[in-house]
Amino acid sequence: RRMEEAEARSAAADAYASQPVTTRDGRVLAVLANAGSVDEVERAIRSGADGIGLFRSEFLYMQRQDGFPDEQVQTAAYARAAELCGGRPLVIRTLDIGGDKSLPYYRFPEEENPFLGWRAIRVSLELRDMFRTQLRAILRASARGGVRVMFPMIVSLAELRDALALLEECKEELRRQEVPFDDRIPVGVMIETPAAVFMADELAAEVDFFSIGTNDLTQYVLAVDRGNRRIAAMYDTLHPAVVRAMRLTVDAAHRHGCEVGICGEFAGCVAHAELLVGLGFDELSVAPPSVPAVKERIRGLETPQAELTARRAVEAATASEVHELIGVG
Ligand code: PEP
Ligand code: MG
Repeated sequence: RRMEEAEARSAAADAYASQPVTTRDGRVLAVLANAGSVDEVERAIRSGADGIGLFRSEFLYMQRQDGFPDEQVQTAAYARAAELCGGRPLVIRTLDIGGDKSLPYYRFPEEENPFLGWRAIRVSLELRDMFRTQLRAILRASARGGVRVMFPMIVSLAELRDALALLEECKEELRRQEVPFDDRIPVGVMIETPAAVFMADELAAEVDFFSIGTNDLTQYVLAVDRGNRRIAAMYDTLHPAVVRAMRLTVDAAHRHGCEVGICGEFAGCVAHAELLVGLGFDELSVAPPSVPAVKERIRGLETPQAELTARRAVEAATASEVHELIGVG
């Protein structure tokens, strides 16, 4: 009987999956999906996603053998993804390579701590021609509508400003070449490091949106390697330190009229929806198969109750208290 009930619930969730989602008391949220390829964008939209909250562009670089993808190849992929999104948001994250991700055609330096090393925006800001190529491709695809650009692993305003200046230069070039693009393309940063959390006010003043990457944020706040089985039990996004980091970030974003979402795997678990709604997130970006269930859960939530849960989680002294509070063992 329980299996039948679960199947009925899942069928009902699927039926409403592509409808916009509001809480019981009418607060509007967006449930988008994470995608690692153009095919995945298609699956995500079919699952009812309100758009793509994280398009991991590195797949384009990792699946090649013979060098960085050129502007043509990238423009085609991003434009196709934008077309599949049909005007819904498509958040393209610029290359997040390094750490545990390497490229067959590029020699990364040997590093003792790759996750604290040369990765993501640090690589892009150094390999500037490669970065320009990607920014130009994203801008060209933005002519289709819905495209947003997001920078990974930001730790300082200096990095953000450097990336923004390059984006402006690319816009200027395209203008001169009379290539169409969305001049008001929204720009965002991923909040994945403690530094970004503490600088959230300054960062929020200069961008349109934030997306918290809890996969990395958890690893960096707790100093627990996200891929190390030996300490996997310590890797806990419900640790009050991580919950407080989310609260600081959401509040800073909203003080500056900056939208804030979450795109770590944590958001895809229905049990976490109440906490996330209560913390004030505007959007959740989850793995495509989780879209219907997360939307269904949000439809059953009341904002005041969710806010109370979030307040208690922020005030909790231990991770077990937070687990108990939201009913996750
Ligand atoms: C994250 O860190 O939460 C994130 C979404 O980025 P990735 O998992 O690709 O590092
Ligand atoms: Mg990350």
